[in-house]
Amino acid sequence: QLEIDRKGVIEFLLLNHPLDCPICDRGGECPLQNNVVAYGPGNSRFIDEKGHAAKAFPLSKYVTLDLERCIQCGRCVRFTEEISGDAQLAFRFRGSGMQPSTFDLTDFDSKFSGNVIEICPVGALTSSEFRFRARPWDLQTSPGICTLTPCGTNVWFDHRDGKLSRINGRVNEAVNEEWTCDRTKFGHGEIYAAAGRISAPHVRSGDDFEAVSWSSAWKPILNAFEAESGVIAGPSVSNEDLFMLKKLFKYGFKSGNLDHRSAGFDALPDRLVDSVGTTIAELENKDAVLVFGTDLSDEEPMTFLRVRKGWFNNGTKVVVACDTETDSDSFAHTILRYKPGSEVAAAHAIAAAMDGKSADAEDLKASGLDAAAVEAAASALKGAGTAVLTTRSLLAKTGGADAASWLAKAADSQGGSFSLMATQANEQGALEIGFLPESGKNTREMLEAAKAGKLKALWLANYDPITDFPDVELAEAALENVEFLVVQAANETECAAYASVILPMTLPAEQDGTYTNVESRVQKMDQILQPVGEAKPIWRACSDALLRIDAANHPPFSASEVMAQICGEYPRFEAATADALSGEGALIYGPEIEPGQENQEPAGGQVQ
Ligand code: SF4
Ligand code: SF4
Repeated sequence: QLEIDRKGVIEFLLLNHPLDCPICDRGGECPLQNNVVAYGPGNSRFIDEKGHAAKAFPLSKYVTLDLERCIQCGRCVRFTEEISGDAQLAFRFRGSGMQPSTFDLTDFDSKFSGNVIEICPVGALTSSEFRFRARPWDLQTSPGICTLTPCGTNVWFDHRDGKLSRINGRVNEAVNEEWTCDRTKFGHGEIYAAAGRISAPHVRSGDDFEAVSWSSAWKPILNAFEAESGVIAGPSVSNEDLFMLKKLFKYGFKSGNLDHRSAGFDALPDRLVDSVGTTIAELENKDAVLVFGTDLSDEEPMTFLRVRKGWFNNGTKVVVACDTETDSDSFAHTILRYKPGSEVAAAHAIAAAMDGKSADAEDLKASGLDAAAVEAAASALKGAGTAVLTTRSLLAKTGGADAASWLAKAADSQGGSFSLMATQANEQGALEIGFLPESGKNTREMLEAAKAGKLKALWLANYDPITDFPDVELAEAALENVEFLVVQAANETECAAYASVILPMTLPAEQDGTYTNVESRVQKMDQILQPVGEAKPIWRACSDALLRIDAANHPPFSASEVMAQICGEYPRFEAATADALSGEGALIYGPEIEPGQENQEPAGGQVQ
């Protein structure tokens, strides 16, 4: 009977279904196709004209809808209602004419729209970028990590002939469950396939650049960096890259001028510098969450989905305090809209109320917050099950470090957790490895010294101060005045125009490496794609340089050797065993870590 029932259901699903399989993007990985083959009838009794509907209707620039293929299962609609929460899709009409659609056919601009492509069980929702580019059996699929957000979202890199074809979500219940944000799903293509990939070292020759070999590029670099020098690294490069850059500058160039931060937290109390109070997964079981000063769905997309899941499934009370509207407002218990620039006053008022005191009248006036709303928020944020979340972009605001300190005190008053979340893929790793000034200059001080002609040589590793540093005038003046500038980049950048030498670097999927996400989870990505031309990982270039500085050095020549050295110097990384890295990743910091597992600086000054 079951067999007959199955056949009947499948025959029913196929009544108006087109025979598109040979040209359908889902062909070869289509649940409907698979079920028809396994359980369906061998032929059709339906002899009438099938219903027709719009083919390839663009729901957004990312998602294309083929209505004829839709089996009206409702998964896409439920996703936008229950998971992303933007409710952008709904069913129009009823009966066999029922169609998933946006309201009034407006653009489907959800920040999580790419997920509906993967959960659609047929080829009705397809990726506008991937359509007709490859068949599933032509692709190789490799596990990877997204390095475009701080979440460490687990993904599959689908590639063909060494080139990236598409990104799909990969299940890691501890991090992203099965979801991706649109930056993760659609952002990699333009980086990996950019026209401006740098494929060889280039040395300045007048107003132009000349392509040279790596060995020709090293000579001027090593000469120039004998003088006062510094390095600024972008916080999305791997742990191995940061570790070897630090070695190169500390032991090779004898410089303590190193930093990975664009702006802000010089004034932050030490205990908050690497503050990770909760894991992403724990957030769905919190009693209450205060989201302060951030649009979580932009800065921390997977954290946003967990906080929303906690509210949707478990009734977590969410208080949102921000100077502007955010996506989290839609499920907030209380919204505290403070005036732009009044973060300190707002944080102080909330902390006082959470501590059982009345908010200071001056703070209320400065922030524009209503006393009753602050009281309502504080009454929701009670007990040890409270998590206070903010991001390091708060630190770029006036008094941001003070605001962060008040928020930490607010969490302490409840025995709850406080997280000052990283905003870039390996910012947390940079803190763990201490890619910070060591009796040297921070990012701003290096740029000021370069502008004043006091810093002779500057190395920018995957960092462009013209686009990433908040003070563009200072950045441009620094790059104009520094005597020698090394730009290590994968794609053309604005700062490359000022470079003395440009070094090509590999992108994350083109090298072996590990990345520490926002909750201090170390995850690994093995090399998936071929490097472009002569491009090398940053860590490898640093090993080469150290060998040239002193031939007696034995710098590491594989990413696993670098990781072994990292574990030797930063014991918390010992949790990143091969087993942990091949599973959900290794948490190296936070409530689950035993006290005493502190990272230490190495005693000696030798390159190992
Ligand atoms: Fe074939 Fe599946 Fe595409 Fe339908 S959705 S045309 S069954 S591949
Ligand atoms: Fe139709 Fe696909 Fe949406 Fe299901 S998930 S309703 S098949 S478009």
